[in-house]
Amino acid sequence: MTKTQTKSVVLLQHHLKNLRLPTILSECEKVAVRCATDNVDHLGYLLQLSELELIERERRAAERRLKAAKFPTHKTLDTFDFKVQPSLNKLLVNELMRGEYIEKRENILLVGNSGTGKTHLAISLGIAACGQGKKVRFYQVTELITHLMEAREDRDLLRLKRQLSKLDLLILDELGYVPASKLGAELLFDVISTAYERMSLIVTTNLPFENWPEVLGSERLTGATLDRLTHRCHILETAGESYRLQDAKRRRTKSSSGESIKTK
Ligand code: ADP
Ligand code: MG
Repeated sequence: MTKTQTKSVVLLQHHLKNLRLPTILSECEKVAVRCATDNVDHLGYLLQLSELELIERERRAAERRLKAAKFPTHKTLDTFDFKVQPSLNKLLVNELMRGEYIEKRENILLVGNSGTGKTHLAISLGIAACGQGKKVRFYQVTELITHLMEAREDRDLLRLKRQLSKLDLLILDELGYVPASKLGAELLFDVISTAYERMSLIVTTNLPFENWPEVLGSERLTGATLDRLTHRCHILETAGESYRLQDAKRRRTKSSSGESIKTK
């Protein structure tokens, strides 16, 4: 490389850094060599570089969205066994994975006993939405209520609500495990009614509808919450015994029939 070439590379690196084009910065020399051998013209070279920058930018944004969603674990549909859920509408699950319900601001309610895969499905749907460029946040209901109550005490409720209102999809996991206090239920109701028709909600619950008043504390609040949640809503029901229990049973049968089982 001649002295002027070295100087222009250094300058170019400086400019690319200022322009915040890190992928073009790291790839430009390699791609230049390749393009020279392949006889690609200047515009072709620029095209290749800008494509690389865009792909990498999108990958980083997707990573950020996943991180911001705060999923408790990473679950996808590949590891979901539909055979143990014969009554679950697989067609509907697959359709929902495409994410059109979010464009239409529709909700998803996942109802079923504990351990039947509701959280697994909710996370899978959430991860798919992140991949489609959507802003997602996963909360356990009790965690969100605590957050809301703390924010209210710190006079920070508005900021939290503004943050929530920027989401495309809010996942509320485990509505109904712990009865909420009156204030907690009201704050939660407020989030649900603000979300109504502005973003999508995925709610998982092991509670039959008739038991909701016990959790939300009042018939009026429950009626209004259910009304908003179930309007424009897809209902997925998981049935049967807990998957963990079935899994444990399968392992036990295997071990008692003489097969060795691996333990972690
Ligand atoms: P729920 O939220 O309904 O209580 P989870 O989604 O937490 O149940 O499921 C409990 C565990 O069992 C998780 O580790 C989950 O991945 C697994 N699981 C549940 N159902 C299935 C299924 N049909 N196929 C594969 N794993 C499942
Ligand atoms: Mg769960």
